[in-house]
Amino acid sequence: MNNFGFDEKQQLVELLLKCPSIENVGTRNLVLQELPSQISTAIIGNPASKVHVLGIVNTCRNFPDGLEHLFKVIRLFDGATIPFQELIENFPIIKSLPVILEKKPENEESNTDVEVNEVNVVEVNEVNVVKEKKPPPTPTKATLSIDWLSGCSGCEVAFADLHEQLPSVLKNEVELVRLPILMDTKEYVSADIGMVTGSIRTEHDIDAAHAMRKSCKTIIALGTCPVYGGPHGGGYAHTTDELLDRSFVHNPSTRTTVIPTDIPKLLKESRTLDSEIKVDVYMPGCPPHYAFIIEGLRALLSGREPTMGQHNVCFDCVRSMDKTDVKTLRRSYEGEFEPNLCFLSQGILCFGSVALDRCRRAPCPTAGVPCFACGGPSLPVILEPQMDVWTLIAERMAHLTEIPKAHIVNEIKKQAKTHYAYAMVSPIFRYKPTSPLRKTLIQHIEKGN
Ligand code: SF4
Ligand code: SF4
Ligand code: SF4
Repeated sequence: MNNFGFDEKQQLVELLLKCPSIENVGTRNLVLQELPSQISTAIIGNPASKVHVLGIVNTCRNFPDGLEHLFKVIRLFDGATIPFQELIENFPIIKSLPVILEKKPENEESNTDVEVNEVNVVEVNEVNVVKEKKPPPTPTKATLSIDWLSGCSGCEVAFADLHEQLPSVLKNEVELVRLPILMDTKEYVSADIGMVTGSIRTEHDIDAAHAMRKSCKTIIALGTCPVYGGPHGGGYAHTTDELLDRSFVHNPSTRTTVIPTDIPKLLKESRTLDSEIKVDVYMPGCPPHYAFIIEGLRALLSGREPTMGQHNVCFDCVRSMDKTDVKTLRRSYEGEFEPNLCFLSQGILCFGSVALDRCRRAPCPTAGVPCFACGGPSLPVILEPQMDVWTLIAERMAHLTEIPKAHIVNEIKKQAKTHYAYAMVSPIFRYKPTSPLRKTLIQHIEKGN
């Protein structure tokens, strides 16, 4: 298996890079975590994907079953995908790989060595066909209950983004017992795992959160809303009376004139889920990429901690941070922008460097839109009380352009309601000594900014 030349190795790297779990550095790291620790710790990280994957292949080749382990893990993530099938189909060495060892089930009777070998061997006999000599035991399925509080249902849609993996996940791994977007279930059915989307914004949300906590063994806060308060945290700058008036009375796009009274009462502000109930697992992202959702579920099912990821959005962004002589700030709708140059270098605020990557491959900057940190703050911002987003961004941008830092800080303050919306009600920001957020917001609203 390990005896192949440079051309074949290059081809293998190219094909691996097409596999969804390897293509993105976030899930690639999840794959590496599943390798035996002596292999994963020997792999050296590299920001260039091709160099990183080449290093992974080279390291795995240094261990007797290294490549077999690697393919086994990738198959777990991508088994049903076209790129993985292309990998098997087009790469002759994998195609001829005689066995991929499967973990022996703990409750399997070990009669003789011969029988054990037969049970544990899965043969790849032909392209796309995995033929098993004996079917593996049916894994225990966990029951999954999902409820939404104040949110937009985007997180439920992200669950459906599992696409072709969804039937297999529902068949083999979790049994959905509650999902209001799909099922007309009003009761809070007992479940092993409870996923809560949306934030605590109304009195109904408080009751629903407690009902989920009572009925589920493990609670996952799914999405930026329950983890940090969500985009409607922008309401932090207003009173509930102002919000209701703007929504129902003085709203240019509706004809209502009366604030309804038969709806759940709005609370003073949006709150995180853990402000009301105990949360076991946090999965931020608006919504989290489905790869993180499935990884989190599988981690729980196998009794380990789900991975949060450590990179910021810049890590995966194709734009380069180059020094320019730009002297003026612009907003993203003002003029044309270079597609390959970092927004900061062009005088536009982009929060990718202080945003946790929960979206994979920097989708917004790649599509021409600056990142507004919907995945929530990056790990340094979360962990360091004194780390101030304004200073971090302003210093980086001032370094990349000719724009004075004070101008940039002022512009961030003006746009704070937009850029901080996703996490502004979270205690992470609210109690930062460097974050007089509410005062700043109200000052700018009063000035009409
Ligand atoms: S986290 Fe984002 S996608 Fe999920 S419910 Fe909240 S606003 Fe919608
Ligand atoms: S700041 Fe924005 S545009 Fe610049 S590298 Fe980071 S994500 Fe890309
Ligand atoms: S705004 Fe930033 S964090 Fe959110 S999806 Fe876009 S790139 Fe990802």
